[in-house]
Amino acid sequence: MAEEVEMDSARKRYEFKKTLEKLAEKEGSGTELITIYIPPDKQIYDVTAQLRDEFGQCANIKSKQTRTNVQSAISSILSRLKYYNKPPENGIAIFCGSVKVGGDKTDLDCVIIEPPDVVNLYMYRCSSKFELEPLKQMLVEKEVYGLLVIDRRESYIGFLRGNRIEPVSGVTSTVPGKQRKGGQSAMRFQRLRLIAINEYYKKVGDRASEIFLAEPEFFERFKGVLIGGPTPTKEEFYDGDFLHHELKKRVIGLFDVAYTNESGLAELVDNASDALRGVEVMKEKVIMDRFFKELVKDDGLSSYGEESVRKNLEIGAVDTLILSGNLRKSRLRLKCQSCDYQREETVQVEPGKKMSDIEFGICPKCTAPVYMDEEVDIVDELTDLADSSSTSVMIISDDFEEGAMLFNAFGGIAAILRYRTGY
Ligand code: ZN
Repeated sequence: MAEEVEMDSARKRYEFKKTLEKLAEKEGSGTELITIYIPPDKQIYDVTAQLRDEFGQCANIKSKQTRTNVQSAISSILSRLKYYNKPPENGIAIFCGSVKVGGDKTDLDCVIIEPPDVVNLYMYRCSSKFELEPLKQMLVEKEVYGLLVIDRRESYIGFLRGNRIEPVSGVTSTVPGKQRKGGQSAMRFQRLRLIAINEYYKKVGDRASEIFLAEPEFFERFKGVLIGGPTPTKEEFYDGDFLHHELKKRVIGLFDVAYTNESGLAELVDNASDALRGVEVMKEKVIMDRFFKELVKDDGLSSYGEESVRKNLEIGAVDTLILSGNLRKSRLRLKCQSCDYQREETVQVEPGKKMSDIEFGICPKCTAPVYMDEEVDIVDELTDLADSSSTSVMIISDDFEEGAMLFNAFGGIAAILRYRTGY
């Protein structure tokens, strides 16, 4: 049995994003592209019952061509659903219909997706485009941050999940005001006040630690803690060891906020947005920094451009393969129709362009026509090469300067090498 290689999440994301891009390009000549979302708890026979009903209602469609197309799409979906007793774990999304392929020609196209996240709605839609919004939502990374706003009177704790703020719990303080009561000595009052502040910070720290550490998949998804409040309260709280050490080392930053009740959480997220963007691209930035450091050295361990990186991959000299998430290229295997001649070629993928329509000329050995035998996405092809020599692969977004440079200046393909080579 072939060994299954677990794809890392950036790669899965890239694959998924690419699939959505392809679906988004597709268009029907009428209202005849069918989208179905089936959540995991939906009965398949309920779906097939509705489909049979829709099939019958097609009789009302005036255009004969649209009617025929919708009916053949429904038949095609019905025959595919036969293979399912129940929906897969995350549910299923079906895109089926006659899509335009140039001229007035159409092709029946059916794509079934088992999405990376749970489908939580049932949808049947017939339109001139496929409905992709629920899947696009899944591309938004669901990272989790702990939120804590604090001043000396009150504190509030919550989560940021993706873009959603989830308030959890508030803590109020019993710290006495600055005015002492008559009869108390100033020094005694001051000492009691400090004790009360300390106890309050401890209470807040304990509550926050309890809430944040209870987060399922803490080490997987919990990306850090944001602390907001006036100066010097938040600094005092942070500097004292009131948070659990696993949380203290995950503090991303301290931010000024005016409110320390529930509405302070939103203010905290707003003020921390730059810092949050930074965390997402941090991992990618570290790799790009390493690459640029090697690049400027005289005997640096860098390589870029498809040809050079490919040669280094083939001899197992690449430590880290760096690919831009914007790459849209295919590696084609071309063969001669009558002899054993073959070659490989990389071409840019463009919307509406069909690889099989490209003229690849004639065979240099026997002059028979050359045809395309196989098309592989370049990221898949280079990643397979990398896997065979235990090379790690990073897919880099273009939403930071060095990431954009990777795509614009280095063709989206670069590498950090294990040793120097002649390529
Ligand atoms: Zn030939």
